[in-house]
Amino acid sequence: MKILKNYIDGELVSVDSHIDIFNPAEGTVYAKAPRSQEREVNCAVEAATRAFGKWSRLSAHERGAYLLRIAQKIEKYQEDLAMAETNDNGKPLWLSNAVDIPRAATNFRFFATAIQHFASESHSTETVTNYTLRRPIGVVGCISPWNLPLYLFTWKIAPALAAGNCVIAKPSEITPVTAYMLSEICQEVGLPKGVLNIVHGYGNEVGACITAHPQIPVISFTGGTKTGAQIAQTAAPLFKKISLELGGKNPNIIFGDCNFERMINETVRSSFANQGQICLCGSRIFVEESIYDKFLERFIAKTKQLKIGDPLEPDTKQGAIVSREHMQKVLSYFDIAKQEGGNIVCGGKAFRGEGRCEKGWFIEPTIITGLDVNCRTNQQEIFGPVVTVTPFTKEKEALEWANCTPYGLSATIWTENLTRAHRFSRDLQSGIVWVNCWLVRDLRTPFGGVKQSGVGREGGWEALRFFTQTKNISIYQGE
Ligand code: NDP
Repeated sequence: MKILKNYIDGELVSVDSHIDIFNPAEGTVYAKAPRSQEREVNCAVEAATRAFGKWSRLSAHERGAYLLRIAQKIEKYQEDLAMAETNDNGKPLWLSNAVDIPRAATNFRFFATAIQHFASESHSTETVTNYTLRRPIGVVGCISPWNLPLYLFTWKIAPALAAGNCVIAKPSEITPVTAYMLSEICQEVGLPKGVLNIVHGYGNEVGACITAHPQIPVISFTGGTKTGAQIAQTAAPLFKKISLELGGKNPNIIFGDCNFERMINETVRSSFANQGQICLCGSRIFVEESIYDKFLERFIAKTKQLKIGDPLEPDTKQGAIVSREHMQKVLSYFDIAKQEGGNIVCGGKAFRGEGRCEKGWFIEPTIITGLDVNCRTNQQEIFGPVVTVTPFTKEKEALEWANCTPYGLSATIWTENLTRAHRFSRDLQSGIVWVNCWLVRDLRTPFGGVKQSGVGREGGWEALRFFTQTKNISIYQGE
């Protein structure tokens, strides 16, 4: 059985107590992760503090060179990393290979090169020149969730390191294996000791220690809205800089004039990709009445074709749900939806796998109709392979319903009417809008949510600005 270790001060370090790590497709324990405590976080902070002086003074080129070497190693070990991600998370192996692991390499490559081009402003008057200095801050904390384990972990670590900070990072204790493999890669490329420290453990133990630590002035967090609120509560009186990427309940608004074939294929993907466990999945589908019946018929038929089961099979479209607890949470919403008057028109129950997957955690992709827009099923984040479909007649009504949750992460619109696409995009309360596409990501663009979906933006210059301290220097140059 694989026993993971912490990565502190450049060394792989054991602890006495461990957490069971499950393979969700089999429902069995296959690895153990360290259950770290405050002392491990303190050791990591001491190591990072020691490393900061030298790391922050390296040139952008030198820091970038380390990150590029990490990217190359991720590419070299792509197959092993993809297999590890699938065994840990339950997602189809082809998805780990096509998306998760290449994106982790791209995150390092992108910020290794972005930092070479990072510049700041100058503002002059007749008598004074101001220039903005952006400096590395110090030791930063990065906490990430289980749904896109290495992808989101590296999305924080790469810009933090590129900007010259040292990092204390905690992956989700549910999916820690690829983070551990990243620590082995960092050793292999000779990343200086203490620059990156990976401390495994429970959120309410290690995560809470990182958030509260007085020598960690910056916290970058991705996860649930409730956890984000706890982090904000701890960080606010300590005046920490925080970035919170939180939950979503994203609307997918489909007008009668859309390109139907393209829309239907992408809507199946945006509803059920990664078993619906992507914060950007569209979980509330609003369809213009004129095409509602046609949409529902085709959408159900296509969803029923999605093959559920062994994530290692190349034609599997729906892998396992990440944990037993999460599966039970998702399943509980089927009863809630029925109590709320919903009709489950596709799926609606657990799926029993075969062979090695007999005891795995699977759920049929599920479509629910007939619900009020304000009911719990339509207001609360389920984060599984579950969507609701609601017909609308007027654009105004669709906009109102799209905006009627506490969340505001992303939205998708399907229409061939350009003016309406612009108008709708402007009026939607969300940080990201896709028109006639979904999950098209350009790493230069700002990424994040409004309302209870988060605070701050990741991506491109936004990330590099977040991970640096801004100072204005004003120089008198005479009358
Ligand atoms: P959680 O909020 O439960 O956990 C996220 C991370 O925070 C984990 O590493 C967790 O550790 C840690 N954590 C838990 N409690 C604390 C605490 N008190 N202090 C500090 N850290 C803590 O989220 P999930 O892992 O369940 O992820 C799913 C959620 O993430 C969904 O709501 C989803 O929408 C959101 N998400 C948002 C994205 C965005 O960009 N906006 C992207 C992807 C997901 P542990 O696992 O050990 O408990």
